[in-house]
Amino acid sequence: MLRTFPFLLLFFLFHCTTIGFHQKDTREKISFGQESKFRVCLLSEPDITKKEIADLFTAWNEELSLYQLKAEPIHLGVMDRPGFWGADILGYLMSTPLTKDCDRLVYFKGRTWGDMAFEVLTLGIFAGVGIKLEIQGAVEGQSNTRGYIKAKYQSTIQLLFTSPKSTLIHEGYHLLGCGHQLFMKDCYEKIRDVKLLLADPERDPNFFPNLTTSGKKILNRSQVLIYSNID
Ligand SMILES: [Zn+2]
Repeated sequence: MLRTFPFLLLFFLFHCTTIGFHQKDTREKISFGQESKFRVCLLSEPDITKKEIADLFTAWNEELSLYQLKAEPIHLGVMDRPGFWGADILGYLMSTPLTKDCDRLVYFKGRTWGDMAFEVLTLGIFAGVGIKLEIQGAVEGQSNTRGYIKAKYQSTIQLLFTSPKSTLIHEGYHLLGCGHQLFMKDCYEKIRDVKLLLADPERDPNFFPNLTTSGKKILNRSQVLIYSNID
């Protein structure tokens, strides 16, 4: 058991923080076409500042520039968390239709006293068995258009492995159809394919398309499934 511990630890750290290892040479051979913008509608918790939002988007857009892409934030408003667990937030997002100015919907989770207590608890489990229970963010897999991230500063040990910026970049890849992979080639091709859908005659011209993890095309907002009975 002791021997497997470092591997388990590595696996979880890798899984939680990395979407895959970059392959610069492969990426540079792929044509990502012209620069395109997509609009990311945002809901944020009261403790998140405008500057934090701006800094997070600057970091994300730096990564997106590799693909000639730009995420434009549209701040819909401040709201209290729909529930303590990540599943509560995802459930809420999935029951919220994308309005006409939104291509993606992202919830920026803050940090409350309850979160801090939970961090202390999970830190104990983390140190004990190498499993990090606290999830930094997630994107629903039905249309890959809606997700949340922990947008606030975190406890010291977490900052060694992850940060709100790296979480947004990670979840940002899921918002463009990517899954997890050891090397990024599949993800690069997915992003190229999503951008090619911009030319699909069936696409709603006012919607930035997407691909699901299984490869289904999402060309308009009515294909973004609504689950109204999640609670
Ligand atoms: Zn992920």
